[in-house]
Amino acid sequence: MDYSEEKGWYSPRIIPYQPLTLDPAAMVFHYGQTVFEGLKAYRSEDGSVRLFRPEENFKRLNQSSDRLSIPPIDEAQMLAYLKELIRIDKDWIPTMPGTSLYIRPFVIATEPTLGVAPSRNYKFMIILSPVGAYYKEGINPIGIFVEDQYTRAAPGGTGTAKTAGNYCAAYKAQERATANKQAQVLWLDGMEKKYVEEVGSMNVFFKLNGEVHTPGLSGSILEGITRKSVIELLKSWDIPVFERRISIEEIVSASKSGTLEEVFGTGTAAVISPVGELLWKDHKIVVNNNETGALSKRLYTELTGIQTGEQKDPFGWTVRLEDE
Ligand code: PMP
Repeated sequence: MDYSEEKGWYSPRIIPYQPLTLDPAAMVFHYGQTVFEGLKAYRSEDGSVRLFRPEENFKRLNQSSDRLSIPPIDEAQMLAYLKELIRIDKDWIPTMPGTSLYIRPFVIATEPTLGVAPSRNYKFMIILSPVGAYYKEGINPIGIFVEDQYTRAAPGGTGTAKTAGNYCAAYKAQERATANKQAQVLWLDGMEKKYVEEVGSMNVFFKLNGEVHTPGLSGSILEGITRKSVIELLKSWDIPVFERRISIEEIVSASKSGTLEEVFGTGTAAVISPVGELLWKDHKIVVNNNETGALSKRLYTELTGIQTGEQKDPFGWTVRLEDE
Protein backbone atom coordinates (compact mmCIF):
# COMPACT_ATOMS: atom_id res chain seq x y z
CA MET A 1 0.00 0.00 0.00
CA ASP A 2 1.29 3.49 -0.84
CA TYR A 3 0.92 6.95 0.66
CA SER A 4 0.90 10.36 -0.92
CA GLU A 5 -0.20 13.67 0.54
CA GLU A 6 -2.99 13.99 -2.04
CA LYS A 7 -4.41 10.46 -1.76
CA GLY A 8 -3.54 9.36 1.78
CA TRP A 9 -2.97 5.59 2.00
CA TYR A 10 -4.09 3.99 -1.26
CA SER A 11 -3.85 0.97 -3.52
CA PRO A 12 -3.60 -2.00 -1.13
CA ARG A 13 -2.53 -5.09 -3.06
CA ILE A 14 -1.11 -8.56 -2.59
CA ILE A 15 1.73 -9.36 -4.96
CA PRO A 16 4.30 -12.18 -5.14
CA TYR A 17 7.44 -11.62 -3.04
CA GLN A 18 9.95 -9.81 -5.22
CA PRO A 19 12.70 -7.15 -5.14
CA LEU A 20 11.59 -3.56 -4.79
CA THR A 21 12.64 -0.70 -7.04
CA LEU A 22 13.38 2.52 -5.16
CA ASP A 23 15.03 5.79 -6.06
CA PRO A 24 18.58 6.00 -4.57
CA ALA A 25 17.50 9.30 -2.99
CA ALA A 26 14.51 7.63 -1.22
CA MET A 27 14.56 9.22 2.22
CA VAL A 28 14.56 5.92 4.13
CA PHE A 29 18.10 5.24 2.86
CA HIS A 30 19.49 8.46 4.27
CA TYR A 31 17.54 9.45 7.37
CA GLY A 32 16.15 6.15 8.61
CA GLN A 33 12.51 7.22 8.48
CA THR A 34 11.04 3.75 8.88
CA VAL A 35 9.13 1.73 11.49
CA PHE A 36 8.37 -1.96 11.79
CA GLU A 37 6.58 -4.63 13.79
CA GLY A 38 7.13 -8.32 14.50
CA LEU A 39 4.44 -10.84 15.37
CA LYS A 40 3.67 -14.48 14.78
CA ALA A 41 0.88 -16.72 13.50
CA TYR A 42 0.65 -20.23 14.89
CA ARG A 43 -0.96 -23.20 13.15
CA SER A 44 -2.14 -26.04 15.34
CA GLU A 45 -2.47 -29.69 14.36
CA ASP A 46 -6.15 -29.30 13.47
CA GLY A 47 -5.10 -26.70 10.88
CA SER A 48 -6.49 -23.67 12.70
CA VAL A 49 -4.37 -20.51 12.58
CA ARG A 50 -4.08 -17.97 15.40
CA LEU A 51 -2.51 -14.55 15.77
CA PHE A 52 -1.40 -13.36 19.20
CA ARG A 53 -2.72 -9.87 20.13
CA PRO A 54 -2.20 -8.47 16.62
CA GLU A 55 -4.18 -5.31 17.42
CA GLU A 56 -1.43 -4.44 19.92
CA ASN A 57 1.20 -4.65 17.18
CA PHE A 58 -0.74 -2.37 14.85
CA LYS A 59 -1.38 0.09 17.67
CA ARG A 60 2.36 0.11 18.43
CA LEU A 61 3.18 0.53 14.73
CA ASN A 62 1.13 3.72 14.70
CA GLN A 63 2.76 4.92 17.94
CA SER A 64 6.19 4.34 16.38
CA SER A 65 5.03 6.11 13.21
CA ASP A 66 3.87 9.08 15.24
CA ARG A 67 7.36 9.43 16.81
CA LEU A 68 8.94 9.32 13.34
CA SER A 69 6.42 11.75 11.75
CA ILE A 70 4.96 9.02 9.54
CA PRO A 71 1.20 9.20 8.82
CA PRO A 72 -0.91 6.61 10.73
CA ILE A 73 -2.70 3.69 9.07
CA ASP A 74 -6.16 2.42 10.00
CA GLU A 75 -5.44 -0.41 12.46
CA ALA A 76 -8.50 -2.53 11.62
CA GLN A 77 -7.61 -2.24 7.96
CA MET A 78 -4.03 -3.46 8.56
CA LEU A 79 -5.36 -6.48 10.45
CA ALA A 80 -7.83 -7.26 7.67
CA TYR A 81 -5.00 -7.13 5.07
CA LEU A 82 -2.82 -9.36 7.21
CA LYS A 83 -5.57 -11.96 7.58
CA GLU A 84 -6.07 -11.97 3.83
CA LEU A 85 -2.35 -12.45 3.23
CA ILE A 86 -2.06 -15.29 5.74
CA ARG A 87 -5.07 -17.06 4.26
CA ILE A 88 -3.26 -17.27 0.92
CA ASP A 89 -0.10 -18.72 2.48
CA LYS A 90 -1.74 -20.72 5.22
CA ASP A 91 -0.65 -24.11 3.98
CA TRP A 92 3.02 -23.48 4.39
CA ILE A 93 2.77 -22.38 7.99
CA PRO A 94 4.61 -25.21 9.79
CA THR A 95 2.82 -27.21 12.49
CA MET A 96 5.80 -28.78 14.30
CA PRO A 97 5.98 -27.74 17.99
CA GLY A 98 7.52 -24.31 18.44
CA THR A 99 7.31 -23.35 14.77
CA SER A 100 5.32 -20.41 13.46
CA LEU A 101 4.90 -17.86 10.72
CA TYR A 102 6.85 -14.68 11.43
CA ILE A 103 5.08 -11.52 10.26
CA ARG A 104 6.94 -8.29 9.55
CA PRO A 105 4.77 -5.24 8.80
CA PHE A 106 6.82 -2.10 8.05
CA VAL A 107 6.69 1.40 6.64
CA ILE A 108 9.45 3.14 4.66
CA ALA A 109 9.83 6.72 3.47
CA THR A 110 10.09 6.68 -0.32
CA GLU A 111 10.17 10.32 -1.43
CA PRO A 112 13.35 10.98 -3.46
CA THR A 113 14.63 14.11 -1.70
CA LEU A 114 17.98 14.79 -0.06
CA GLY A 115 16.69 17.51 2.29
CA VAL A 116 16.06 16.59 5.92
CA ALA A 117 12.27 16.72 6.42
CA PRO A 118 9.49 14.14 6.76
CA SER A 119 8.92 12.32 3.48
CA ARG A 120 5.72 13.04 1.56
CA ASN A 121 5.55 9.46 0.23
CA TYR A 122 5.61 6.08 1.98
CA LYS A 123 5.11 2.38 1.42
CA PHE A 124 3.52 0.03 3.92
CA MET A 125 4.35 -3.63 3.40
CA ILE A 126 3.88 -6.95 5.17
CA ILE A 127 6.29 -9.81 4.53
CA LEU A 128 5.98 -13.33 5.94
CA SER A 129 8.50 -16.03 6.71
CA PRO A 130 8.06 -19.46 8.32
CA VAL A 131 10.35 -19.85 11.34
CA GLY A 132 11.64 -22.92 13.14
CA ALA A 133 11.44 -23.52 16.87
CA TYR A 134 13.39 -20.95 18.91
CA TYR A 135 14.37 -23.65 21.42
CA LYS A 136 15.51 -26.68 19.50
CA GLU A 137 16.74 -28.57 22.54
CA GLY A 138 14.33 -27.34 25.20
CA ILE A 139 14.26 -23.98 26.96
CA ASN A 140 17.77 -23.01 28.12
CA PRO A 141 19.18 -20.01 30.01
CA ILE A 142 21.31 -17.43 28.22
CA GLY A 143 24.11 -15.19 29.45
CA ILE A 144 23.76 -11.40 29.17
CA PHE A 145 26.34 -8.65 29.03
CA VAL A 146 25.45 -5.46 30.91
CA GLU A 147 26.51 -2.67 28.56
CA ASP A 148 28.23 0.20 30.38
CA GLN A 149 29.72 2.08 27.42
CA TYR A 150 27.16 2.47 24.65
CA THR A 151 23.59 3.74 25.03
CA ARG A 152 20.58 2.39 23.17
CA ALA A 153 18.16 5.20 23.92
CA ALA A 154 17.69 8.27 26.07
CA PRO A 155 14.44 9.80 27.37
CA GLY A 156 12.83 11.87 24.65
CA GLY A 157 14.65 9.90 21.93
CA THR A 158 13.25 7.14 19.74
CA GLY A 159 13.71 4.29 22.27
CA THR A 160 9.97 3.64 22.61
CA ALA A 161 9.56 3.33 18.83
CA LYS A 162 10.29 0.21 16.84
CA THR A 163 12.53 1.89 14.33
CA ALA A 164 15.70 0.89 12.47
CA GLY A 165 18.10 3.31 14.17
CA ASN A 166 17.61 1.76 17.60
CA TYR A 167 18.74 -1.60 16.27
CA CYS A 168 21.87 -0.55 14.41
CA ALA A 169 22.80 1.60 17.42
CA ALA A 170 23.01 -1.73 19.26
CA TYR A 171 25.47 -3.52 16.95
CA LYS A 172 28.64 -2.33 18.71
CA ALA A 173 27.29 -3.37 22.10
CA GLN A 174 26.31 -6.77 20.70
CA GLU A 175 29.89 -7.18 19.42
CA ARG A 176 31.12 -6.50 22.95
CA ALA A 177 28.64 -9.03 24.38
CA THR A 178 29.81 -11.68 21.91
CA ALA A 179 33.49 -10.93 22.66
CA ASN A 180 32.63 -11.48 26.33
CA LYS A 181 30.96 -14.81 25.48
CA GLN A 182 27.47 -13.54 26.36
CA ALA A 183 24.47 -14.07 24.08
CA GLN A 184 22.77 -10.69 24.46
CA VAL A 185 23.12 -7.15 25.75
CA LEU A 186 21.35 -5.78 28.82
CA TRP A 187 20.96 -2.02 28.39
CA LEU A 188 21.21 0.49 31.20
CA ASP A 189 19.55 3.90 31.12
CA GLY A 190 21.20 6.44 28.86
CA MET A 191 21.61 9.15 31.50
CA GLU A 192 23.30 7.59 34.51
CA LYS A 193 24.10 4.04 33.28
CA LYS A 194 22.56 2.91 36.53
CA TYR A 195 19.04 1.61 35.92
CA VAL A 196 18.18 -1.52 33.96
CA GLU A 197 16.22 -0.93 30.74
CA GLU A 198 15.84 -3.97 28.46
CA VAL A 199 17.69 -6.82 26.71
CA GLY A 200 18.53 -6.72 22.94
CA SER A 201 15.07 -7.52 21.62
CA MET A 202 13.38 -8.41 24.89
CA ASN A 203 12.04 -6.78 28.02
CA VAL A 204 13.48 -8.05 31.28
CA PHE A 205 12.02 -9.35 34.55
CA PHE A 206 13.61 -10.19 37.92
CA LYS A 207 12.12 -12.53 40.52
CA LEU A 208 13.24 -11.18 43.88
CA ASN A 209 12.15 -12.91 47.05
CA GLY A 210 8.92 -14.30 45.57
CA GLU A 211 7.95 -11.02 43.85
CA VAL A 212 8.42 -10.09 40.22
CA HIS A 213 9.94 -6.75 39.25
CA THR A 214 10.39 -5.22 35.81
CA PRO A 215 11.65 -1.81 34.68
CA GLY A 216 8.78 0.64 34.27
CA LEU A 217 8.06 2.29 30.93
CA SER A 218 10.85 4.82 31.30
CA GLY A 219 10.26 6.61 28.00
CA SER A 220 13.26 4.88 26.43
CA ILE A 221 12.27 1.18 26.35
CA LEU A 222 10.00 -0.64 23.95
CA GLU A 223 6.55 -1.40 25.34
CA GLY A 224 6.69 -5.15 24.71
CA ILE A 225 3.48 -7.03 24.06
CA THR A 226 4.89 -10.16 25.73
CA ARG A 227 5.87 -7.96 28.72
CA LYS A 228 2.32 -6.69 29.00
CA SER A 229 0.92 -10.24 28.73
CA VAL A 230 3.34 -11.56 31.38
CA ILE A 231 2.29 -8.81 33.80
CA GLU A 232 -1.39 -9.65 33.21
CA LEU A 233 -0.72 -13.39 33.66
CA LEU A 234 1.24 -12.88 36.90
CA LYS A 235 -1.55 -10.71 38.29
CA SER A 236 -4.11 -13.39 37.41
CA TRP A 237 -1.97 -15.89 39.35
CA ASP A 238 -1.82 -13.55 42.36
CA ILE A 239 1.95 -13.21 42.05
CA PRO A 240 2.99 -9.68 43.07
CA VAL A 241 4.42 -7.76 40.12
CA PHE A 242 5.97 -4.29 40.19
CA GLU A 243 6.95 -1.91 37.40
CA ARG A 244 9.64 0.40 38.74
CA ARG A 245 13.22 1.64 38.43
CA ILE A 246 15.67 -1.18 39.15
CA SER A 247 19.35 -0.37 39.51
CA ILE A 248 22.02 -2.84 38.46
CA GLU A 249 23.59 -2.43 41.93
CA GLU A 250 20.32 -3.68 43.43
CA ILE A 251 20.58 -6.84 41.32
CA VAL A 252 24.20 -7.38 42.40
CA SER A 253 23.26 -7.06 46.08
CA ALA A 254 20.14 -9.25 45.65
CA SER A 255 22.40 -11.89 44.16
CA LYS A 256 24.80 -11.61 47.12
CA SER A 257 22.00 -11.84 49.68
CA GLY A 258 20.36 -14.78 47.91
CA THR A 259 17.09 -12.98 47.05
CA LEU A 260 17.67 -12.96 43.27
CA GLU A 261 15.70 -16.05 42.30
CA GLU A 262 15.12 -15.77 38.55
CA VAL A 263 15.80 -13.45 35.63
CA PHE A 264 14.07 -13.78 32.27
CA GLY A 265 13.53 -11.86 29.06
CA THR A 266 10.20 -11.58 27.23
CA GLY A 267 9.66 -11.07 23.51
CA THR A 268 7.87 -12.36 20.44
CA ALA A 269 10.84 -14.48 19.24
CA ALA A 270 11.70 -16.43 22.39
CA VAL A 271 8.44 -15.77 24.30
CA ILE A 272 10.31 -16.36 27.61
CA SER A 273 14.09 -16.53 27.72
CA PRO A 274 15.59 -17.46 31.10
CA VAL A 275 18.83 -15.68 31.99
CA GLY A 276 21.44 -17.80 33.78
CA GLU A 277 24.27 -15.31 33.97
CA LEU A 278 24.82 -11.53 33.97
CA LEU A 279 28.19 -9.92 33.39
CA TRP A 280 28.54 -6.30 34.60
CA LYS A 281 32.06 -4.86 34.71
CA ASP A 282 33.92 -7.30 36.98
CA HIS A 283 30.76 -8.73 38.55
CA LYS A 284 29.60 -12.10 37.31
CA ILE A 285 26.14 -12.92 38.62
CA VAL A 286 24.97 -16.51 38.31
CA VAL A 287 21.20 -16.86 38.55
CA ASN A 288 19.46 -19.99 39.82
CA ASN A 289 22.59 -22.11 39.22
CA ASN A 290 22.30 -21.27 35.54
CA GLU A 291 19.13 -23.34 35.30
CA THR A 292 15.66 -22.44 34.03
CA GLY A 293 13.53 -21.39 37.00
CA ALA A 294 10.04 -22.72 37.75
CA LEU A 295 8.32 -19.37 37.07
CA SER A 296 10.05 -18.93 33.69
CA LYS A 297 8.95 -22.45 32.74
CA ARG A 298 5.39 -21.88 33.89
CA LEU A 299 5.09 -18.61 31.97
CA TYR A 300 6.58 -20.19 28.85
CA THR A 301 4.20 -23.16 28.97
CA GLU A 302 1.15 -20.99 29.61
CA LEU A 303 1.92 -18.38 26.96
CA THR A 304 2.91 -20.81 24.21
CA GLY A 305 -0.14 -22.93 25.09
CA ILE A 306 -2.43 -19.94 24.57
CA GLN A 307 -0.62 -18.86 21.39
CA THR A 308 -0.90 -22.27 19.72
CA GLY A 309 -4.46 -22.88 20.86
CA GLU A 310 -3.44 -25.91 22.97
CA GLN A 311 -4.67 -24.17 26.08
CA LYS A 312 -7.71 -22.04 26.85
CA ASP A 313 -7.35 -18.33 26.20
CA PRO A 314 -9.16 -16.75 29.17
CA PHE A 315 -7.93 -13.27 28.23
CA GLY A 316 -9.17 -13.35 24.62
CA TRP A 317 -5.64 -12.64 23.36
CA THR A 318 -5.72 -14.83 20.28
CA VAL A 319 -7.44 -14.05 17.01
CA ARG A 320 -8.43 -17.21 15.17
CA LEU A 321 -8.57 -16.95 11.42
CA GLU A 322 -11.91 -18.26 10.28
CA ASP A 323 -11.53 -21.58 8.51
CA GLU A 324 -12.47 -21.34 4.88
N1 PMP B 1 12.45 -4.60 23.25
C1 PMP B 1 12.92 -4.51 21.99
C2 PMP B 1 13.98 -3.52 21.70
C3 PMP B 1 12.41 -5.35 20.98
O1 PMP B 1 12.88 -5.27 19.73
C4 PMP B 1 11.39 -6.28 21.32
C5 PMP B 1 10.82 -7.18 20.24
N2 PMP B 1 9.75 -6.57 19.59
C6 PMP B 1 10.93 -6.32 22.64
C7 PMP B 1 11.48 -5.47 23.59
C8 PMP B 1 9.82 -7.25 23.04
O2 PMP B 1 8.59 -6.83 22.50
P1 PMP B 1 7.44 -7.87 22.11
O3 PMP B 1 7.13 -8.62 23.36
O4 PMP B 1 6.32 -7.02 21.66
O5 PMP B 1 8.00 -8.75 21.05
